[in-house]
Amino acid sequence: MLKKNRLRIAMQKSGRLSYDSKKLLLNCGIKINLEQKKLISFSENMPIDVIRVRDDDIPGLVMNQIVDLGIVGGNVLKENILSKKSFNTKNLYKLLLNLDFGICRLSLACRKSSEYENLQSLKNFTIATSYPYILKKYLNTRHINFRSFTLKGSVEIAPRVGLSDMICDLVSTGATLEANNLKEVHVIYKSNAQIISRKGNISTLKKELIHKLITRIQGVMQARESKYIMLHAPTSKLNQVMSLLNGIENPTISKLVGHPKKVVLHMVSKENLFWETMENLKKAGATSILVLPIEKMME
Ligand code: ATP
Ligand code: ZN
Repeated sequence: MLKKNRLRIAMQKSGRLSYDSKKLLLNCGIKINLEQKKLISFSENMPIDVIRVRDDDIPGLVMNQIVDLGIVGGNVLKENILSKKSFNTKNLYKLLLNLDFGICRLSLACRKSSEYENLQSLKNFTIATSYPYILKKYLNTRHINFRSFTLKGSVEIAPRVGLSDMICDLVSTGATLEANNLKEVHVIYKSNAQIISRKGNISTLKKELIHKLITRIQGVMQARESKYIMLHAPTSKLNQVMSLLNGIENPTISKLVGHPKKVVLHMVSKENLFWETMENLKKAGATSILVLPIEKMME
């Protein structure tokens, strides 16, 4: 039973999303022991319980209001929604935030030697996939005939052993495809991890906690993308140095003690500073250039 005053969050127990999901919650200041792989763990400092399950179970737990929040791949969520017979799926959950991990794409791939040309040539091909509903919807919308079957694992092996001509599977770097002598030919769906919430009545206390958590998660993600930059620059070269740091707003400029012709610049950059930019800054007269990670951020 869902407790009134404790927020329940479902995340993947072990797999590609579990490390990042765990890290995200810990970075938000939730004190919780997630080292032991227990089904349920309780936070010591916030009214939050974490449920760890297979990722495929997360949409159901949220939609059936067994948990309040879920961290799940967009691909798993979409497949789950499409598999439902009911057309009224809009009110089953709410997307709260797209997360910056679990980035992958669902793609069609075939043997490197295959004569695949475009989607139209699929009609003579058999496709193995773990995502039959996403594949079907995508190809049906485009009026493309195809044959497919479902494999829940080892999809990438299917063409090699003669089970299928193609696969429709998740890709990130493409290394698995390469190792199986396959080539990616068409992206069907781009995915990332998402935080979703259940529908139905949610107490004010829980709503406030969700709001706090989402604000913290946004802060963690923003901090991950940003860098704190410090450097010394001759006052006479300030414009030149600033022009190399375009996109950076409102730097703090202060005096450098003992160096009347130099200033110190502090600024937050929304992106990393590349080695090339640092070398150009140095050429422009900047010294003591530091690029530091930011742990937390709130605007
Ligand atoms: P479970 O045992 O929980 O069912 P699984 O084997 O179905 O796990 P994983 O391989 O751990 O799933 O992938 C979980 C999710 O991570 C995928 O549904 C997808 O959203 C994302 N993902 C998949 N492949 C990649 C990848 N190569 N890089 C990043 N994220 C990925
Ligand atoms: Zn799974």
